[in-house]
Amino acid sequence: MSTTTDVVDPATEEVITTLELADEERTDAAVEAAHRAYQTWREVSPADRARLLRRFAAVVDEHVEELARLEVANAGHTIGNARWEAGNVRDVLAYYAGAPERPGGETIPVDGGVAMTFAEPLGVVGVIVPWNFPMPIAGWAIGPALAAGNTVVLKPAELTPLTAMRLAELALEAGIPEGVLQVLPGAGSVVGERFVTHPLVRKVVFTGSTAVGKRVMAGCADQVKRVTLELGGKNANIVFADADLDAAAAAAPGGAFDNAGQDCCARSRLLVQAEVLDAFLVRLEPAVHGFVCGPPGEAASGMGPLISAGQRDTVAGYVRDAEVLIQGSAPEGPGFWHPPTVLRTRAEDDPAFTEEIFGPVISVLPFRDEEDALRIANDTAYGLAGSIWTRDVGRALRVARRLEAGNLAVNSHASVRYNTPFGGFGQSGLGRELGPHALDAFTETKTVFIATGD
Ligand code: NAD
Repeated sequence: MSTTTDVVDPATEEVITTLELADEERTDAAVEAAHRAYQTWREVSPADRARLLRRFAAVVDEHVEELARLEVANAGHTIGNARWEAGNVRDVLAYYAGAPERPGGETIPVDGGVAMTFAEPLGVVGVIVPWNFPMPIAGWAIGPALAAGNTVVLKPAELTPLTAMRLAELALEAGIPEGVLQVLPGAGSVVGERFVTHPLVRKVVFTGSTAVGKRVMAGCADQVKRVTLELGGKNANIVFADADLDAAAAAAPGGAFDNAGQDCCARSRLLVQAEVLDAFLVRLEPAVHGFVCGPPGEAASGMGPLISAGQRDTVAGYVRDAEVLIQGSAPEGPGFWHPPTVLRTRAEDDPAFTEEIFGPVISVLPFRDEEDALRIANDTAYGLAGSIWTRDVGRALRVARRLEAGNLAVNSHASVRYNTPFGGFGQSGLGRELGPHALDAFTETKTVFIATGD
């Protein structure tokens, strides 16, 4: 029996469309179709595969505005962010389009002959995407997976399936053969779990919560299935006394409230060196009030609504129990709004300071010195991202090297570029996406020895 889901605009609570969710049978059929498509896709010549991916990037480019508007409606992303996200998919596809034609493998001199290595595709890749960045996260897997000769079945989050579904249509329009990229809306407990157990799915790429990621990893162990995990984060934004306080305060709201704080890289733990805490908060207050929470389609809005009523209530629960230092405003309902909020951290084990809230909330805590900042910042099971604000280049590098996180920025909050590796330490994940490293995650290395009769 199939089930359906209403896809809702989180800014208005209106139903955009109703979709049928895939059941296990439908999932199996998609995986089998992807396996059949793999037999031919892996044989497509490097030049043709590169050409098709470039064409896919070009078709996405022609539809950036349409994809962006769809994401504004489905996920409540601001129009500026949504345009960047659609453009990021284009850039990722164009970047990996170069891969099939680049030299690969090694030749290794060995006794009695020569050994060489080949990067072989894995087969069908099951990709599981969360609701917070539906487009880029889909693109980060699709680009390198297809470039390496794999086929993809992708499951978007139940709340935000629309842009991924559109991307699959655009792939067909670009000439990517039927079955090479399929998007299957469905429940995690049905479609996602089936990716984990289906023997023809050779790899699972999971982006989502740490709790579900652990479950996926444990399930994959049964078949020693390859897995990439991009999980949660609780990222530090460390402001030293010698920093440009004006710049650090101006950037702090964007670093934490972008996408309404529903960002694994959100800099939600704000660590400020004690002697400049007051001076920093004086600067932070107008910056928070200037970060407008409003209709996501309007250019003035810095953030839109949260994804759902449940997410809004979760965020409100953390704020209710805490001491609010600064709070902006948010529209009245309908829509799942929560104002940008800055909390004082009373103790280092405050839940708002330690747990991933996934909402527009910053928790502030002063620190004494470099050692103290590192101790606090590293006192977490996560390790995804972080920022360091200082004018001392030596300190910036010292602290960056000792922070246990995968993506760090100095005097900036930038986390993601299509050509640099992205991923987490500790319980923030396993493996790296983007950049050249991602191709390794979608291939197996094969060594072939040729005896030369020496
Ligand atoms: P979630 O873990 O609830 O869901 C993520 C995806 O997994 C969804 O598609 C869901 O349907 C699916 N799923 C649920 N149960 C499953 C199961 N048993 N087996 C297989 N799949 C299952 O996460 P969410 O609430 O959608 O997303 C928010 C989380 O994602 C946050 O923790 C955030 O930090 C994390 N995230 C991480 C990154 C990163 O790159 N590190 C990026 C974005 C989001």
